[in-house]
Amino acid sequence: MSTVSMDELVNLCKRRGFIFQSSEIYGGLGSTWDYGPLGVELKRNVKEAWWRDMVATRDDIVGIDAAILMHPKVWEVSGHVQNFTDPLVDCKSCKQRFRADDIKDSVCPECGGELTEARQFNCMFKTFMGPVEDDASIVYLRPETAQGIFVNFLNVLQATRKKLPFGVAQIGKSFRNEITPGNFTFRTREFEQMEMEYFVMPGTDEQWFKYWVNERYNWYVKYGIRPENLRLRPHSSEELSFYSKSTTDIEYKFPFGWGELEGIANRTNYDLKRHSEGSGKDLTYFDEATKQHIIPYVIEPAAGADRAALAFLADAYHEEKVRNEKRVVLRFHKDIAPIKAAVLPLLRNRPDIVETAKKLAHDLQKCIPTAYDDTASIGRLYRRQDEVGTLWCITVDVQTVEEDHQVTVRDRDTMEQVRIPIEGVKAYLRDKLESEC
Ligand code: ATP
Repeated sequence: MSTVSMDELVNLCKRRGFIFQSSEIYGGLGSTWDYGPLGVELKRNVKEAWWRDMVATRDDIVGIDAAILMHPKVWEVSGHVQNFTDPLVDCKSCKQRFRADDIKDSVCPECGGELTEARQFNCMFKTFMGPVEDDASIVYLRPETAQGIFVNFLNVLQATRKKLPFGVAQIGKSFRNEITPGNFTFRTREFEQMEMEYFVMPGTDEQWFKYWVNERYNWYVKYGIRPENLRLRPHSSEELSFYSKSTTDIEYKFPFGWGELEGIANRTNYDLKRHSEGSGKDLTYFDEATKQHIIPYVIEPAAGADRAALAFLADAYHEEKVRNEKRVVLRFHKDIAPIKAAVLPLLRNRPDIVETAKKLAHDLQKCIPTAYDDTASIGRLYRRQDEVGTLWCITVDVQTVEEDHQVTVRDRDTMEQVRIPIEGVKAYLRDKLESEC
C-alpha cells in the first residue's frame, strides 16, 4: 500500500523531526511551520536538485539572490498593489472570513450564516522601513521572487553578456497573507519559491512555453514522483493572471486531493515593459541579427520548495507487511533522501564494536550524509531508518571486529544484505550514489 492520510503524514513529520508547528509551546501560530533536523535536509535536497538542474548544469541560466524588501514602486508598477487580491467574504453571524471562490453554497461553511458581498483583499504583507510608521515608509514583504529578477534584468544582462534565450533563477522566501491557509505546508503565509524567468525572442515564446512545461513535468518524475500522481492543468482564459498569455499548472495528487505544485506561465513582455515605463530605464535587449531593440518575452516556471517537499514525502510513503509486521518506509529518490546511510553497532555494550562503528560513521560523514545510532536493538534501528527513508544501514557485528573486518550493508528497498570489507564501504556507497558525474 502506498497511500497515506494527511494525519498520518503530519504525525510522522512531527514524530521523526521533519516538520514541527511553529511556536508550538505558545500554542502555535496559524499555518506557520518549522523544519526539523530531517526536514531541513529534505528541503535542502529539493532546492539543490532544482538548482543543479535549472542553473548549475545549464549554460543558458544564471542565478541571483535578491532582497526580500524591495522599493515599494516595484509592486505598484508590477500591478500587485492593484491586482494581487483574493475575493473575501465575511460571515455576518460567526464573523469568520473566507475566500469567496472557496464557498460552495453561498452560506458560511462553519455556521451556515449569511455572508457579506465579496470585496477584494490584498494578499501582500505590509511593514514599515525605518523608525517612522507612516505611509511614506510602507514596504512590502515580496509575494513572489520573480520581481527581484525583472528589476535586475539589466544588471544581469550587462554582467554576463548573455544572448537570448537565457534565464535567471532564484530560490527564496515569499510571503502572502492568504485568507485561508491550510493543508499543512501546502498553503502557508510564509513559504519558499524556486522561480526562473526565461527571456526569449517574441514569437518564440509559445515554443519555449511548451518546452518548459515538459522539462518541469519530467523533473518531478526524475526525482521519483509517480506519473499517475501528476497531471498538467492548462488555465482557462477566465482564470489567467492579469500578466499571463497562457499558464499550465503541474498538479500533484496530495492526500487531500489534487493541488498545484508549480505553475508555468507565459508572462509576455508585461513585466519588463511595465518596469521600463515605471523606472524610466531602458530595459530592452539589442538583437544583433535584426539590429533592433526589443523587449523579450518571458516564460516562468514557478515552483514551491515546501509543496515539492510535501509531495516527495507523500509519494515516498509506503506501508508493507514484512514477516507479519507493518513496515513503514519512505522510498525517497537517492538525491532527495535526507540521510543516505546509517551505521549501527549490533551490540552497544561492546566497546570494540561501538568504536569501530563510530569510526566508520565519522569517516563516511566527510562526504556522505550519515547517521550513527546505537539507542535500540537492531530490528528497531532498521525500522527507524526505513521510516525516514535512509538508503543503507551498515551493521558492525562481532564478526567484524573479531574475524573478517567486514560489515553488512542492507538496502532500504529490497532489504537485501551484502557483506563487504569495511574499507570498501565508502567506495560502495559512492558508486551507488553517483548520478551523472
Ligand atoms: P495557488 O493557486 O495554490 O494559490 P498560485 O497560482 O498563486 O498558487 P504562484 O503564484 O504560481 O501560485 O506561485 C508559484 C508556486 O509557489 C506555487 O505553485 C506553489 O508551489 C508556491 N506557493 C504559492 N503560494 C503558496 C503558499 N501560500 N504556500 C506554499 N506555497 C505556495
